[in-house]
Amino acid sequence: MNRLTSPTVVQELMARHGASFTKSLGQNFLIDENILQKIVDASAIGPGDRVLEVGPGIGVLTQAMAQRGAFVTAVEIDRRLIPILSDTLAGYDHASVVQGDILKVDLPALWQEHLEGQPFSVVANLPYYITSPVIMAILQSGLPLQSMTLMIQKEVADRMSAAPGGNDYGLLSVAVQFYCRAELQFMVPPSAFMPRPKVGSAVITLTKLPECPAGPVDEDAFFHLVRAAFAMRRKTLHNNLAASNFGLSRDQVREKIEACGLSPAVRAEALSLQDFARLTRAFYGAD
Ligand code: SAM
Repeated sequence: MNRLTSPTVVQELMARHGASFTKSLGQNFLIDENILQKIVDASAIGPGDRVLEVGPGIGVLTQAMAQRGAFVTAVEIDRRLIPILSDTLAGYDHASVVQGDILKVDLPALWQEHLEGQPFSVVANLPYYITSPVIMAILQSGLPLQSMTLMIQKEVADRMSAAPGGNDYGLLSVAVQFYCRAELQFMVPPSAFMPRPKVGSAVITLTKLPECPAGPVDEDAFFHLVRAAFAMRRKTLHNNLAASNFGLSRDQVREKIEACGLSPAVRAEALSLQDFARLTRAFYGAD
């Protein structure tokens, strides 16, 4: 049993250090022992694994992972939590804390210095206001990521794991699935946190793929095209791509779409990663 899942212990620690919960930093601390262990199980981390944690809070997840023998580096933005973390992680030689904003830290330098330049996983109960930027920054860093196990807002988890054709499928689904296999693990109710968030949460695992499922394609060109395709959700692919800056006439755009075996009237939400890759090659002319 982890002491830090006890609401009384959390309150007592915060009070003793003169800290209070900051809503704008997404501070909803996990107080459910069962969910805590399920997150660590889902991450499949074990002794010796390198883990980057985003936003350790008072260290509940950090402790649980260090107890399983993982080497955890946790980046926390809130300076007031640092003395609490020194307290709760005292004696955990495998855990270290870096004070900073995960969106501003030099990720390659952090990886070299704290994760010893080794393959690593990310495990986090993410602050919900920066979910997508954090995930994209890590995925696009080019570092040897193995997997991410993340507690995020339920709706965002649905979007990340969505298949083509549905309302949830969009730019975020394509961006995440370009790099990873996304699996929704389980739902987490607001009662698992202190204070309780207004939204439901879910745990998702993103397993880094050795190769992009879309096949060989230039990454910048791919994302440029996908952004253009989803620019106006209700517009057809033809209208969105014709409005984008490809330097082509409407007829030329239509011809390229048709050459990919697609109807110009289709909407981006119906297209697979392979469709987007074909379009990228057609519009940019090369891999
Ligand atoms: N891991 C803890 C838990 O499970 O109870 C806390 C999770 S809480 C949802 C999110 C944490 O992320 C908070 O501790 C918050 O201060 C921290 N945080 C918010 N924005 C951050 C940022 N830009 N960089 C690093 N940490 C951040």
